[in-house]
Amino acid sequence: MQHTGEHLQADPLGESPRVIGHYVGTEMGPLVVAIGGIHGNEPAGVTALEQLFDLLREEPLINPGFTFRGELLALRGNLAALRTGHRYIDTDLNRIWSPTRKRQATNSEDRELDGLLAAIAHALDEVPASELILLDLHTTTATGGVFAVTGDDRPSLLLAAELGVPVIKGMLSNLQGTTLGYFRGGDFDFQRPSRAVTFEAGSHTDPQSVDRALAATVSLLRAVGCVRPEDVNTHYDDTLRDAAAGAPPLLELVYVHRITAAERDSFVMRPGYENFQPVTAGTLLADDAGGPIAAPCDGYLLMPLYQAQGEEGFFIVATYPSPSGF
Ligand SMILES: [Zn+2]
Repeated sequence: MQHTGEHLQADPLGESPRVIGHYVGTEMGPLVVAIGGIHGNEPAGVTALEQLFDLLREEPLINPGFTFRGELLALRGNLAALRTGHRYIDTDLNRIWSPTRKRQATNSEDRELDGLLAAIAHALDEVPASELILLDLHTTTATGGVFAVTGDDRPSLLLAAELGVPVIKGMLSNLQGTTLGYFRGGDFDFQRPSRAVTFEAGSHTDPQSVDRALAATVSLLRAVGCVRPEDVNTHYDDTLRDAAAGAPPLLELVYVHRITAAERDSFVMRPGYENFQPVTAGTLLADDAGGPIAAPCDGYLLMPLYQAQGEEGFFIVATYPSPSGF
């Protein structure tokens, strides 16, 4: 299909409940795939992408010179889990992205993954794209700070830095089967360059998480040249900047507390911890059937788990030592 102009409704992809919107610009450029709700209890990213498509519909009316370079495909991640408000139905959709996984028709998340890959493949078939860029929008159970997670390659780090929030590196080698890893790892046969960024917009229930996810998505569209800096103003850049204030710009994962199947029912995070809260080695952070769990090292706490579902209890990150890390 040719690049004939913006189309929001005529696209067969637009008929699917998985597709929030599919915007095809007039100029060749990257395909940006933005996914909200990979975890069903994190609807803020979905709402932000719905609002973004409202803005894109309005933009040519208030800004006659508006053009869009490339293509934006916005998707709902875990449809079944979004309906029930749970993180997942059978298994964590953000841990099963693998070309070698044997998918089962009876597993809800295997079907979700097939649906996501089919939508992306369809968009890639339909319009030639110079590059594939994935933005995966999430929220956390804890409050206190927003951040981006990316691969350790320089192009992805530079793109994540454009969002203006702290960037966490080192996650991909420690978490298997993430959406981020799949798109960074070259597992998908894109036959074109790819970059991937995960954005954590704040707590699940904070209404400003929607504003921050929207601001981050527009920042990314600007950074990759889909829209010009002066177009599609969300007014939320300050919200994003305020939420990021005070945390180091680049950090590295130094520790993951994994919850084993045996500990699943007994793991309880101690109350009051927030993202980017400084901790020192020995600080008691959580308890399980084996007793108290202490921080094994100094650093900043990330994603302390205050919900029943989840594979990791908490993460510890530290300021990345190289000032030229970007
Ligand atoms: Zn999530």
